[in-house]
Amino acid sequence: MDVQWYPGHMTKARRMMEENIRLVDLVIELVDARIPLSSRNPDIDALCTGKGRVVLLCKADLADPAKTEEFTEYFRKKGILAVAVDARERRAGEVVRRYVQEAGREKIAKDRARGIVGRPLRAMVAGIPNVGKSTFINSFAGRASTKTGNKPGVTRGKQWIRLGGDVELLDTPGILWPKFDNQVIGMRLALVGAIRDEILDKQELAVWLINYLQAEYPGALQGRYLASEASEEDAGTAADPEDQDAMLPPGYALLLRIARARSLLMKGGEPDADRAAAMLIDDCKNGRIGRISLDRLQDAEQMEEERLASAAARKQEKEKEDEEARKKAARSAGSSRSAAGKSSAGGRRPAGKSGDSGRRPAGKSGDSRRGPAGKNGDSSRRPARKDNGAGRGKSGSSRRRGI
Ligand code: GDP
Repeated sequence: MDVQWYPGHMTKARRMMEENIRLVDLVIELVDARIPLSSRNPDIDALCTGKGRVVLLCKADLADPAKTEEFTEYFRKKGILAVAVDARERRAGEVVRRYVQEAGREKIAKDRARGIVGRPLRAMVAGIPNVGKSTFINSFAGRASTKTGNKPGVTRGKQWIRLGGDVELLDTPGILWPKFDNQVIGMRLALVGAIRDEILDKQELAVWLINYLQAEYPGALQGRYLASEASEEDAGTAADPEDQDAMLPPGYALLLRIARARSLLMKGGEPDADRAAAMLIDDCKNGRIGRISLDRLQDAEQMEEERLASAAARKQEKEKEDEEARKKAARSAGSSRSAAGKSSAGGRRPAGKSGDSGRRPAGKSGDSRRGPAGKNGDSSRRPARKDNGAGRGKSGSSRRRGI
C-alpha cells in the first residue's frame, strides 16, 4: 500500500507559511489528539526556528482521555507547552491564550528590556488539513470569522484577531502536509480523516484497525458490532460460517463476522468485506467506535527519530529545489535581459507603427509608462525573481495567492 505523496499545492502552502511565520512571535501547532505523533508535520521544527511554540491536541473529545494525558505529559517533558482541547468550545480560545502568554514570556521580557511595553504577542495557527485550525480560530475569536468545513481552508486577506489586548492571532492558518515515510502513519492519518482514504486499500485499512483495536481496546468491536451474534447462535441457525473462516488471518475473519452480524451481504449471501470495511473506517473517523487513540506512547521515541530523519531529508530536498530555482532565475534573467535589449531597441525606432505600440493601450502616454522600465527595465518587469526569496515577504501578490 503506497500512501506517500506530496501534492504540488502543498509546496505553495508551505511557502506561504514561511512568509507568514516572519510576522509572528510564536506558533500554535495543532495536532489531532487521537494521533498526536502521526499528525505532526516533520518540517515544523525547521519552520518554527526561533519562535515560541504551543502544541494543541485538538479533538480531545474523540480521543482516549488517559492516552491524551500521557501524550500531553510527553510533550511537556520535551519542553513543549501542550494542552488538549475540543476546538469547537469557546473556552478553547481562552485556555490557549494563557499558554500563548506563557510561551511568549521570554519575548515579553526581551521587549521590556528594550523599553517596549504592552505590545501584543502575535501568534499563528499551523497544522495538517482537517485538524481543526479554522474551528479553533473561530473559538479564539469568539465569533464566526473564519470559514470552517471539511476541506482544507481557502485563504483570505490577512487579518489579526485581537484578544484581550495582549494576544493577536493571524486569521490565516499555516497549512502543513502530513509527510510521512511510514505506511502505518498513513493509515492512522486516513482513519482520522486527515488524508483521503481513496488512495488506500479499504480492506487493508479496516483489518489494520481491527487488529489495533483488538490489542489496545479489547471488547470495543464486540460490543458495537457483534452483539447480535449470540441471539442467532441461540436460535440454532445454519452451519457456523466461522468454521470456514478458521484458515483466514484473524483480523480479516473478524471483518467478515462484522459484515455478517450487520447483514452486509453480497448477492449470494456472502459477507461483503468492502462494505464492512467502509463502515468501520467511517465509524472510526466520526468517533462512533468510542473514544480511542491510534498512536501509542511506546512508539513515540522511534516515531520522533523517523520524523526528524524525514525533516532532514526534506530540508536537503528543499535546499536543492531552492538552488535549482536560483539557477533557473539567473538563467532566465540573463536570457530575457538580452531579449529585452534587442526587442526594445527594435520596438522604439519605428515608433507608432510597430507591434510594440499595439500591445499597449492607446490614449495614454507611452513614454511615461515606459519610464520606469526604461530606467530600470529588467527589475521592474520581474521583481519577484531578483532576490529569489529574500524579498518575498514584501511581495503582496505572492502572499495573496490562495491554495
Ligand atoms: P482545518 O482544515 O484544520 O481548518 O479543520 P476545520 O476547522 O475545518 O475542522 C475540520 C472538521 O473537524 C470540522 O467538521 C470541525 O467541526 C471538526 N472539528 C474541529 N475541531 C474539533 C474538535 O475539537 N472536536 C471535534 N469533535 N470536532 C472538531
